[in-house]
Amino acid sequence: MRKPLIVGNWKMNNSTAESVDLAEKLKKTVKDMAGVEVVVAPPFTALGSVRDAIKGSNIKLSAQNVFWEDKGAYTGEVSPLMIRDLDCEYVIIGHSERREYFKESDEIVNKKIKAALRNKLKAIVCVGESLKEREEDKTMQVIESQIRKGLEGILNSELRTTNHEVRLVIAYEPVWAIGTGRNATPSQANEVHAYIRKLLSQIFNEDIASNIKILYGGSVKPSNSAELMSEKEIDGALVGGASLDTDSFAQIVRSACMV
Ligand code: PEP
Repeated sequence: MRKPLIVGNWKMNNSTAESVDLAEKLKKTVKDMAGVEVVVAPPFTALGSVRDAIKGSNIKLSAQNVFWEDKGAYTGEVSPLMIRDLDCEYVIIGHSERREYFKESDEIVNKKIKAALRNKLKAIVCVGESLKEREEDKTMQVIESQIRKGLEGILNSELRTTNHEVRLVIAYEPVWAIGTGRNATPSQANEVHAYIRKLLSQIFNEDIASNIKILYGGSVKPSNSAELMSEKEIDGALVGGASLDTDSFAQIVRSACMV
């Protein structure tokens, strides 16, 4: 049984003070919500302060990106060691905004996943098709290619943690649904999730593959989260815009507790 997971991706929003304020409010709102794992991904600049603000709560910390080397002459990059040092448990890798604006290829995504795993971080790996690819009926082909190339060379043993968790989460995020207000229907998402699960069981052993959570992302909001979450193959959500509003995010978390 996979515990639902809700991740709030704050993207490039909020000053440190605003991030702390949001974290403090969220801490109070979700404190009694059991049976769901809650993660926030503030911008790098606010990670340390948000870490302090959520200390002792049921909220965990994620970074939004990571570099693939541990240290060295890479001006402006942030290494997995630095992220660990800030007590991040998770890191988002291969978000479509990074693939699009920063030309992150599947090969780069693969290097970043390996760097995260080497440093005992849990990788939230994003995959998803563009509108054109969906209209051309290439969704499964695109997803398969992103999953196989992104996860190439990763061993079962690298994914297993000491407390029987798995260090990999997949987020299915159709590009046409991110920040557009247009979400995939629950059955559209469920179909892709089932396909991803099948691919994972071809790549990893059954014990690992069956424990990898598959999240849906793309305009998740309080009005559609319960319906999405009730689908069999949807284990939670990666939430962008709606995670910047405490009440909206808390309602999404609540809808995952009720599944
Ligand atoms: C995201 O940033 O991963 C995302 C899904 O954004 P939004 O919820 O705003 O569509």
